[in-house]
Amino acid sequence: MFTNKRCLFHIFKAATLSLLLTLAIGTKANAMTIVLDPGHGGAGTAGAGALYPPYMEKSLNLAVASQVKSELESAGITTYMTRTSDDQNPSLDQRAAYAKSVNADLLISIHFNSCGTHDRNGSEVWTSLYSTYYTTGYSVGSNILQQLAGLGLVSKGVKTKLGNSGDYYGVIRYGVALGVPTIIVEHCYMDNAYDRSILESKGLSGIAHADATGIINYVNSVGGAGASLAKSDPVSLTEGATANGSTAGTAVAPTVKANSGTTTRTTTSSGFPKDAAGNIIYTDPSGNTATFTPAQWSKLLGNWAYTGEAEDYIRKVPAGDLKAIAGQ
Ligand SMILES: [Zn+2]
Repeated sequence: MFTNKRCLFHIFKAATLSLLLTLAIGTKANAMTIVLDPGHGGAGTAGAGALYPPYMEKSLNLAVASQVKSELESAGITTYMTRTSDDQNPSLDQRAAYAKSVNADLLISIHFNSCGTHDRNGSEVWTSLYSTYYTTGYSVGSNILQQLAGLGLVSKGVKTKLGNSGDYYGVIRYGVALGVPTIIVEHCYMDNAYDRSILESKGLSGIAHADATGIINYVNSVGGAGASLAKSDPVSLTEGATANGSTAGTAVAPTVKANSGTTTRTTTSSGFPKDAAGNIIYTDPSGNTATFTPAQWSKLLGNWAYTGEAEDYIRKVPAGDLKAIAGQ
């Protein structure tokens, strides 16, 4: 009897401790503010990001971010989004400024990948080169990748990339400049058969749940409080090079050069008629026409450089959208 009472007492103590811990974590989680950035956006296909019919990246990003937001809020984490409709397209520095304006502890940019040859797959996270920002990004990124790997996606690691003015990716560069640790999550390649099979079987809700779980695990691992950060020197690399970050002692997967979306493509444009001056005459599926100089055409194809088969995609785009992208 005595033993049983002791036992019950210990059970009570353990239960109370567990409740207190839960409350403590819950309370601290409230102290963290996260901004989710659904990548891309803007009217029509011009703001789509990657295109792989029937997928438009901007819509996938928004759907995933919206569910992540509601799951994080259910866990007591204050969460905002940089855009809430497909047609919005804040600039990268506006997205970072918004995160700063709400005192975000983290800015997480949500993306889906694609490539011309359809032969790449896997998840990857991009973080800042700067050491303390790298550490935070690596930590939350690793937690997210672990969950995505649980869905069957190949984890390609948390990576960094140096550009002319520090971090290569604009949203990371702007975020860090304002003191907000920023990462880009490339969930999978929506044009790759293997990744698409997972995307379609788990659904966007499965992807979003993995993100939310990873983020919550990260928040709990740091006790719910954002790290205090100071900017340090980036590692020394040349433009376009990649590094595994400037923090020693953390093993990460080999880096892979990202698709920047700014590549220009050379093309024969064999499938499109030309006028006497060599300009490309385009007719969209609705019968609207537009004429583009070879330079404009090259720029248009560059917009689709990371979607692959640029000319095939362009055939589906309204002439008006193409004229807007070409600056006509
Ligand atoms: Zn993207």
